[in-house]
Amino acid sequence: MFFHRKELMFPVRVGTPDARFGQLLLEQFGGATGELTASLQYWVQSFHVQDAGIRDMLQDIAIEEFSHLEMVGRMIELHTQGPGRQAAEQSPLFAIRGVGPHFLDSQGQAWSAGYINEGGNVVRDLRANIAAEAGARQTYEALLNGCEDAGTKEALTFLLTREISHTRMFMQALHAMGKLDDPMFGNVAPDSTVDLYFNMSRDGALDMRGPWNKEPAFRFIDQPAPEGETPSQVSNPDDERMAPANQGGKPKGRAPAAH
Ligand code: MN
Ligand code: MN
Repeated sequence: MFFHRKELMFPVRVGTPDARFGQLLLEQFGGATGELTASLQYWVQSFHVQDAGIRDMLQDIAIEEFSHLEMVGRMIELHTQGPGRQAAEQSPLFAIRGVGPHFLDSQGQAWSAGYINEGGNVVRDLRANIAAEAGARQTYEALLNGCEDAGTKEALTFLLTREISHTRMFMQALHAMGKLDDPMFGNVAPDSTVDLYFNMSRDGALDMRGPWNKEPAFRFIDQPAPEGETPSQVSNPDDERMAPANQGGKPKGRAPAAH
């Protein structure tokens, strides 16, 4: 069951409406890193998480993200309420679609459920959530860099801050499971290549070494060699054949066209 309160989670005040900036804000309303993506991702994840504590956290954060969505929507509404002609010149998108938010990104592309990353395992889900929060935080920073309105900046800074808080919550949940710095999860044991680092982009002095390819975590394979076979014959009856002279034999497929 959902209840809704009409007051916003945090004040949204816009001193100078700017429809062009309102269009940029759409990135956090109907864009890939936006609040709709985050809220629906965490909410749908909560349905398949066994652990009651993590399920409760996902639901709390999902509903907070809906509250962020509401704030971003209000911000867009305020930024697109300028004088009609002026706003239309600033952003043709709002001139056509009207005042207020729409489920489009800043370039007018429709929101897609394909932005949502979830499924099957709580470790996979929580790691996807850390990535989602990183994307949201980065977009808020880009928006802040292009923003001159003090009230808008204050609200955007709050929203950016909360994404950092959520990241930490997801990291703490992974830590509690011992999965924050253990890449392994699930029920299939890895094979013997698990600790190999393949030096696949080779250039002697330019091959860099770091903890990602060093002992104790990894064995560095300087000259990786293939262990598989050369694929032999391809069977494709529809494929074109070379002329018999070039092939050294009679084509098995269709006869060549008569001249
Ligand atoms: Mn958010
Ligand atoms: Mn968040």
